[in-house]
Amino acid sequence: MRAQPVASHYIDGAYVEDASGALIECVYPATGEIVARLHSATPALIERAVASAKRAQVEWERTLPADRGRILRRAADIMRDRNHDLSVLETLDTGKPYQETIVADALSGAEAFEFYGGIASTINGECIPLGDSFVYTKRIALGVCLGIGAWNYPTQIAAYKGAAALACGNAVVFKPSEVTPLCALKVAEILTEAGLPKGLYNVVQGYGEVGSTLVAHPDIEKVSLTGSVQTGARVMAAAGADIKHVTMELGGKSPLIVFDDADLDAAVSGAILANFYSAGQICSNGTRVFVHRNIRAEFETRLVERVRAIRLGDPLDPETQMGPLISQAHMERVLSYMQLGREEGARLLCGGGRAKGDGLARGAYVLPTVFTGVTDDMRIAREEIFGPVLSILEFSTEDEVIARANDTDLGLAASVFTRDLQRAHRVIDRIHAGTCWINTHNIMPVEMPFGGVKKSGVGRENSRAALDHYSQIKSVYVEMGGVQAPY
Ligand code: NAD
Repeated sequence: MRAQPVASHYIDGAYVEDASGALIECVYPATGEIVARLHSATPALIERAVASAKRAQVEWERTLPADRGRILRRAADIMRDRNHDLSVLETLDTGKPYQETIVADALSGAEAFEFYGGIASTINGECIPLGDSFVYTKRIALGVCLGIGAWNYPTQIAAYKGAAALACGNAVVFKPSEVTPLCALKVAEILTEAGLPKGLYNVVQGYGEVGSTLVAHPDIEKVSLTGSVQTGARVMAAAGADIKHVTMELGGKSPLIVFDDADLDAAVSGAILANFYSAGQICSNGTRVFVHRNIRAEFETRLVERVRAIRLGDPLDPETQMGPLISQAHMERVLSYMQLGREEGARLLCGGGRAKGDGLARGAYVLPTVFTGVTDDMRIAREEIFGPVLSILEFSTEDEVIARANDTDLGLAASVFTRDLQRAHRVIDRIHAGTCWINTHNIMPVEMPFGGVKKSGVGRENSRAALDHYSQIKSVYVEMGGVQAPY
């Protein structure tokens, strides 16, 4: 199986190779096969990428917003047309099942290009009358924006960051995760094909050091990172040293709260989506499932029956519902949390180890796992596992569950399941989280601002809200009378 790209990097509108950079092996986690070999960017390539972005940005900012938008919308159309091929590549890059990638990755990238392409010509300032004089404001670009990606959604992250940045008149340098280097190259290629002038969307590969070299580069004006809290702290400190703009999309340990009046099947469906989609490797997952004590037993019965039926297998088989984890190393980490759950006294309802079915032993497959009897102090309830491990915590009262849900230094997402309209809004209002749902979980249309509070992040992606983070305001006071000087 091969997914070798034309070259490792995409700079100034073309593929570029420099084999003197450190080797990056792209491993298909379902089989352990190496599907592509790439190279990390050398300092000279990093310079080339940033210089080409800086050069191209000057004219792009002056390009009519409607013309910028048209190019982005064309890119959206190409992504839709190539959805099958892009989905297969996403599957090879990540191991996520084709059943998911065909509906979730290139298509959500296309939606972002379509959305930001559509609103590019509405990125306006305001006019503030002050008697005869007035102030007008303009939204101006930041310059060269750096995107740094995580490995769970390589196409989507490359597209989300690119679409908003380009719509605002910026140029982009994108560094994918070294674990999933393939998909962003296709995004770059498609943008060129859609008519994006060269230099405006560059992809440079590399490990953390390439990321930190880019963050410190004097011509980078903004950094948008999707990654862990630890990396976020490092990147934000480095960006802060040079007063650069940041957007931080970081980790979570989000609550999903089920009251005893909820539609139980819908709540079970929500909990499944919130824990097992992408083998649980989603930042906004509702991994702490608080269930009211009156319905806990019934909720568990219905949940476990469905979780046991989840079909693991070859990710390229359209019937497969759950693939492997991203790597053997990550699998070991997730398995250690499964072991920890047992040691901490949680009761295992299903899963709890590696999956051993047909052909699965070669890959990083683990069983979808449900623990109950989980208490707030257990590490499986406090730390982000980033795997298919669902914890059930029982609660009795509304005030109690709100306090427990908020007892974390993370605040990416939250959801509440109830048929009581007032309770739904009351509870969500009191939960400290940036992205919330009522009677569902993990639905993220591009129109909805996405991001976290507390240590889960800074800034928002998607929606009009992201425009605030990829542009800045210039204010101009216009004097219509004389100038009164006191001296
Ligand atoms: P990670 O933090 O290990 O790496 C993220 C990216 O940062 C990679 O590209 C990596 O090479 C780069 N990097 C590492 N050190 C760096 C440094 N010092 N300077 C600059 N760049 C550096 O995260 P990961 O393991 O790839 O992804 C999993 C994490 O990402 C989880 O915590 C998950 O919750 C989070 N995540 C958040 C969101 C969100 O939108 N909030 C989405 C997906 C994943």
